[in-house]
Amino acid sequence: MSAAKVDVVKEAAALLSKMGVSSDLYQGGDMASFSPVTGEQVASLKTVSPAEVTGIVEKADTAFRAWRLVPAPRRGELIRLLGEELRAFKTDLGRLVSLEAGKIPSEGLGEVQEMIDICDFAVGLSRQLYGLTIATERPGHRMMETWHPLGVVGVISAFNFPVAVWSWNAALAIVCGNSVVWKPSEKTPLTALAVQGIFERAVARFGDAPEGLSQLLIGDRAVGEALVDHPKVPLVSATGSTRMGRDVGPRLAKRFARAILELGGNNAGIVCPSADLDMALRAIAFGAMGTAGQRCTTLRRLFVHDSVYDQLVPRLKKAYASVSVGNPLETSALVGPLVDKAAFDGMQKALEEAKAHGGVVAGGERVDTGSANGYYVKPALVEMPKQVGPVLEETFAPILYVMKYSDLDSAIEEHNAVAAGLSSSIFTKDLQEAERFLAADGSDCGIANVNIGTSGAEIGGAFGGEKETGGGRESGSDSWKAYMRRATNTVNYSKALPLAQGVSFDIE
Ligand code: NAD
Repeated sequence: MSAAKVDVVKEAAALLSKMGVSSDLYQGGDMASFSPVTGEQVASLKTVSPAEVTGIVEKADTAFRAWRLVPAPRRGELIRLLGEELRAFKTDLGRLVSLEAGKIPSEGLGEVQEMIDICDFAVGLSRQLYGLTIATERPGHRMMETWHPLGVVGVISAFNFPVAVWSWNAALAIVCGNSVVWKPSEKTPLTALAVQGIFERAVARFGDAPEGLSQLLIGDRAVGEALVDHPKVPLVSATGSTRMGRDVGPRLAKRFARAILELGGNNAGIVCPSADLDMALRAIAFGAMGTAGQRCTTLRRLFVHDSVYDQLVPRLKKAYASVSVGNPLETSALVGPLVDKAAFDGMQKALEEAKAHGGVVAGGERVDTGSANGYYVKPALVEMPKQVGPVLEETFAPILYVMKYSDLDSAIEEHNAVAAGLSSSIFTKDLQEAERFLAADGSDCGIANVNIGTSGAEIGGAFGGEKETGGGRESGSDSWKAYMRRATNTVNYSKALPLAQGVSFDIE
């Protein structure tokens, strides 16, 4: 299983240089960045101050004013080129994602594939920014709606999808005629520098895109706040914890700016009596242990019908006991590290609380990989007597709480009885049960699946969740509408001026 020892500092520098990032940007600066793989410091980045945000937003606003006049299919050409560059650098960027966010290689590459997919989607979209033609009540009139570019789009992203989240937003925002200012997570700034380097290659090939069309803000939370508060940013798409959204949402509302909030999840699955248990087992294992439990869509709660509990749960425990945990750069382990010590401590605290509420814990111990500051854990499966205490909250670590149910209606009620509303799934071969779960009184989440796990959404659908997940939608379907402003146009081609609703207002 083991391969040559990897020097994360050297490898990061080599990858960044390959992707066109100057070492001035990540050496000798004031913000340290670490790799969760070994816990080592990898770089010290130059940051911007909150005061500098204004100049960057002004530049983005100037870029927007030029870009909004470029025909949308031509704007799509830039994103087509970006997709090509991402294809060319998929291996390097995927590897850097593994190095900086701790993802296993296939998930690092999968994240870049998602970027490529959204570019393809956005290129097609650039010829489909349709408005409606609407029947008017007035003779000799035509009514229609036109979608116009919006302005500077702020993007704030979380550590666990360090590059894909930018692309879900930026690919759409740019074909919609906007400019972008991106504040990545302070835990994953190097992958952001690499993406900026790749974007700039696409811009150079495109030829005449305005300068500053997509810019990066390397900095801490205060820099994010300056972006959120800037009056020339009409939309902020913010991905991260519910705590962050609780701060960002009201700040945007106060100045009537738009928000796309993509916040925490506490996702659940229901395994029914007729479920294909082999399929359910694989879906649950990937959903709950994949990405070391650090996906917003990670499966965190499982309701198993009491008639199949004793068939499924022992198999699940076996999978938990045997799953390989280790360094994603050097081994073929399926579970990589937690992002940092705070994540490890949070996991241990939740497991203690679960025990205090009668939970029976299997797993959860730290795994020694030879790096004192790398936090690796065995994923934990916790059998709970009921949904209480830590089960009601998102702990961003691989903990799966398993509970028995006997009646589907009450399982759905329990399923919905948490604050978050992101992703959900049911495993059943019974059409009535499946449809009940998808119905108006079924799952209350933004994503509701049948016979497929909670995690690993495709870009073609609108992505996001309800309640404390924030209500935002990004990526596919008609999510693009949030990045444009809609104008309703009524054109009078008659020689009269009939007023709507039959109002008469005759002046001399
Ligand atoms: P976090 O909330 O700590 O940070 C996210 C980003 O928000 C960072 O860039 C941070 O600097 C910035 N930020 C924090 N407070 C801010 C403020 N007041 N103003 C402006 N910016 C601020 O989240 P994290 O630990 O990086 O990520 C994990 C969380 O993100 C989990 O809760 C996870 O469920 C969630 N997440 C949600 C989605 C989704 O699509 N719903 C996707 C990925 C992650």
